[in-house]
Amino acid sequence: MAAMEKKLSSCDFLASDNNSKENYLRVIERTAKAITNSFKDSSSYSKLTPQELKKAIFVENMLPENGIGEDGLFECLEKKVLPNMLRTSSTDYMAHLHTLTLLPTIASELIIATYNQSMDSWDQSPAATEIEVETCKFLCKLYGYGENAGGCFTSGGSQSNMTSLLMARDWFCRTKLNYDVKKRGLPPEYNKFRFYTSEISHFSMEKSCHLMGLGYDSVVKVPVDSKMKMDLTALENLIAQDVKNGNIPVCAVATIGTTDYGSIDNVAEMRKICDKYGMHLHADAAYGSAVILSPDYKNRIGNLSLCDSVTVDFHKMFLMPISCSAVLAKDDANFEVFELHADYLNREEDEEAGYTNLVGKSIQTTRRFDALKVWCAFQYYGQSGYANIVNTTIGNAHYFYERLKADSAFQVFIEPEISSVVFRLDASDDVNKAVRRKLIHEDGIVIGQTVYDGKTCLKFTLLNPLVTHEKLDSLMAEIKRLGEISK
Ligand SMILES: *Cc1c(COP(=O)(O)O)cnc(C)c1O
Repeated sequence: MAAMEKKLSSCDFLASDNNSKENYLRVIERTAKAITNSFKDSSSYSKLTPQELKKAIFVENMLPENGIGEDGLFECLEKKVLPNMLRTSSTDYMAHLHTLTLLPTIASELIIATYNQSMDSWDQSPAATEIEVETCKFLCKLYGYGENAGGCFTSGGSQSNMTSLLMARDWFCRTKLNYDVKKRGLPPEYNKFRFYTSEISHFSMEKSCHLMGLGYDSVVKVPVDSKMKMDLTALENLIAQDVKNGNIPVCAVATIGTTDYGSIDNVAEMRKICDKYGMHLHADAAYGSAVILSPDYKNRIGNLSLCDSVTVDFHKMFLMPISCSAVLAKDDANFEVFELHADYLNREEDEEAGYTNLVGKSIQTTRRFDALKVWCAFQYYGQSGYANIVNTTIGNAHYFYERLKADSAFQVFIEPEISSVVFRLDASDDVNKAVRRKLIHEDGIVIGQTVYDGKTCLKFTLLNPLVTHEKLDSLMAEIKRLGEISK
């Protein structure tokens, strides 16, 4: 006999009838309980190896003939998925730039998913569009831009960077070569275009240049100095050499917080060089952008309003759920790259009447209402709340650096400017690698690993403001212990 299909009712959705509302509340509460129950101890991970995990999450049939329903689903989630999730809120997690998330921003995610607005046109997201527009206006002001500036939310720093490089490319071709890339494609001299960024900048630079049809060869990697900041003499020499060789400098990218070290390039000096050669200056502040909210440390990131565009990631140091990022441009007109009119979506006559259709500012069409998270967290915590978060994490990085420096079992190289500390046990690369693996599978502690000066290093990305000095001391002791037994 053919199996019965499950018949849908309003209880499968949130609708206006009471049954549906009660069911919504029940399912949300059940989900919240299942999540909180999975936080059984303070570790960040269940310790399983990749092979063990594959078994743990295995389901016989991904698409059963008849669905397993609510009880079946929760049982499956509670047994297979939730216990093995990485708990980014644990103070034992400090590997990467993704973080624990502030509760008001988790509440925002529920709102985002429930109302499911798409940001492409006003008639799909009226209030959401106005909130994103106001949030971007505020962000432009926060980073020092004037009235002509504009911004848009993106899926992350990589897309924000690509958006900026596209704006730089088209701006350069329009204003310097009198050439319309949107209409005609790349100009004949495209393979002479050059984009300058430090050798430790994010790989989204190369990726973007490839996707823009310019290739990896268009990216010039500028050496860094002993503090892992772009060497500005080298930058100017490389540009001058390129001009001499017939290449065409288009854009320079300052990294405001490198992914590994948190080191910060000097935008004031880069601005002077870019002005001299008629180049666009972009700030990749995916990591360091939150530092602006700390009166104590904001001058560390420099004056970002000197840059023509800025990448701001909210799903890193701002402690918001993935994904949440914005790209800001000093001249809103540069977003023209993405403007395209479709009869069914964003008619010009509507836009003239004041209906904003944000599809004209984005690589994406359907797009999440991520701006709500920023709006909620800024309202909830205010300037001082965020200053406190930033100060705590920078303070922790400073404390840890000093402790490592004072202990001969460790080597530490770069004084942290933000919240990342790269160090190593004074032992072989193999010992350092073994320690990181043992931390994961014996302790459920997840830390980072990178390479400095050809040597394997360990990395703490200290974005969790709940980390205490005592916690850092105990982690140091544990790393030493594991180092001893790994020799
Ligand atoms: C994280 C990061 C990116 C990439 O951002 P995503 O949000 O992961 O796409 C780019 N640049 C820097 C400096 C970063 O730290």
